[in-house]
Amino acid sequence: MERFASTAERIASEPAKLAKIALLAEYFRGLDDDDLAAAARFFAGGPFAARDRRTLALGGRTMVEVARRVYGFDDASLLSNYRATGDLGAAIGALVRAPADAMLFRDRLTPAVLETLFGEIAGASGKNANRRRAAVLERVLRACEDPRVATYVVKIVTGDLRVGLREGLVLEAIAQAFGSDPREVRRALMAFGDAGAVAVAAKRGTLHELRVDYGSPIGFMLATPVPYGEAYAELAHGSWIAEDKYDGIRAQAHVRDRDVRLFSRRFNDVTDSYPEVASALAAIARDAILDGEIVAMRDGGVLPFRTLQARLQRKTVDARLLREVPLTYVVFDLLAIEGELLIDEPLSLRRERLASLITPAAALAIAPFDPVGTEASEFVNRRFEAARARGNEGVMLKRFDAPYFPGRRGKWWLKLKRELSTLDVAVVAVEWGNGKRAGVLSDYTFAVRGDDGSLQAIGKAYSGLTDAEIATLTPWFLEHRLPASERREKARAHEIPVEPKVVIEVAFDVIAESDLHESGFALRFPRIVRIRDDKPVEEIDTLQRVREIYGEMRKRENVTES
Ligand code: AMP
Repeated sequence: MERFASTAERIASEPAKLAKIALLAEYFRGLDDDDLAAAARFFAGGPFAARDRRTLALGGRTMVEVARRVYGFDDASLLSNYRATGDLGAAIGALVRAPADAMLFRDRLTPAVLETLFGEIAGASGKNANRRRAAVLERVLRACEDPRVATYVVKIVTGDLRVGLREGLVLEAIAQAFGSDPREVRRALMAFGDAGAVAVAAKRGTLHELRVDYGSPIGFMLATPVPYGEAYAELAHGSWIAEDKYDGIRAQAHVRDRDVRLFSRRFNDVTDSYPEVASALAAIARDAILDGEIVAMRDGGVLPFRTLQARLQRKTVDARLLREVPLTYVVFDLLAIEGELLIDEPLSLRRERLASLITPAAALAIAPFDPVGTEASEFVNRRFEAARARGNEGVMLKRFDAPYFPGRRGKWWLKLKRELSTLDVAVVAVEWGNGKRAGVLSDYTFAVRGDDGSLQAIGKAYSGLTDAEIATLTPWFLEHRLPASERREKARAHEIPVEPKVVIEVAFDVIAESDLHESGFALRFPRIVRIRDDKPVEEIDTLQRVREIYGEMRKRENVTES
């Protein structure tokens, strides 16, 4: 472990990413298979492989007690060390001296030996488990005569090496050490969830032999929001498909020998919460990893999200709940089939294979999709309205030739969402438009009514009105300009303040706290739904209403993120 510790220390003090990778690659190259496997796992972030469900179950208190027994330091020095660094490994390491009692037999600690001892700790069970765990940990610490080794051993136990290496860099180091293609290493790591096995396979040149490991969730690919509008520039390149955006719970299903596991976005195993989905999936004859959304659905019709809410965070479900809130898993992607990982294949192929894998049944459906044609904007907006009419949240646009990027939010998947809500607001300032809208006042800053009755800006909208409406409003705004002295406090340079008489209804996706505007909030992707000729400025929405919508949004986020 001396070399492990000195390498970790050098990596920690080396700021450059490439140099960190080179140091680690050099270290990996010098190890035999067993040590390589263990060291790669440790550098990847913990005592065991990511796919390994074992834990050490060693609390901070046990570690401190055992360390004190071995090295004989007092609590006060440990506490002040810990306060100074916030790092238990470093705090204990600084107090390490040769163990107080000379022992005839002491383990020679290598990464492989340490991993075996970790296995013993994790395996302790029954009445005396705690005592057994502490006894093995004592053996480990007695073997650490070098303070640096003790430091890093404790860091591995606490699951944080703090050397500034992310998994991506460990992967690069494995590739560099054994001359493998980093993409192949990444793919193997995704499939297998064990940096140790991947490192050894890279060394032997057998990466392609690593099969998909069922039961370790793969990161979820995420989408970038785009505003509902008149043009979707993002769709100009490549071919795209549109799917409904279902308002439910994202889930990744692993089907192996008809045994099913469902994982939430936070990688929790939520299988027991959705028994009807699990049993529908158990009918699939081949091993597969699927991605999809669990929604409340009856007779093919989507039920509102609040219906689904009754099923969330329930560890067990009774027959009545199963009947009252029936669920369907709507599958939209296939990440693996049998031993083959498909994440690097284009979506078109994954979809094709998904269609031939699954037979829709009760509680199981495949998300229908349509190709986006050349008249993209018109098609997308029509598709959006149709999805909404079906009770869904909006539309997802996906590039048909894109791989599946685990854990990444990119431009390959776009989401066009239902507005969170709408607000009736007053236009308080206007700006000249650009491009097609040059020569007309088309950009509107709008406000809600603050607690003291004053108008407080909350956002700015450019889209939603027709050319004819803008053409009519422009002269009206010009006639109702206010003197520059009326400029609002946080006005932008080109803003022209106007009399707050025009009321518009704006839709938006997200409210965020922000100091951009006086209200303390900002709207994401606001768009004008219509001009509210029927509504006087006295009746526009208030800041209090904004706070309420914001509160509801936060509450909902907490529920769906579980
Ligand atoms: P959001 O939660 O608004 O960031 O939107 C992204 C989420 O939409 C994903 O994490 C999924 O849970 C959900 N979603 C619904 N329908 C789809 C779909 N067809 N494809 C991908 N994600 C979807």
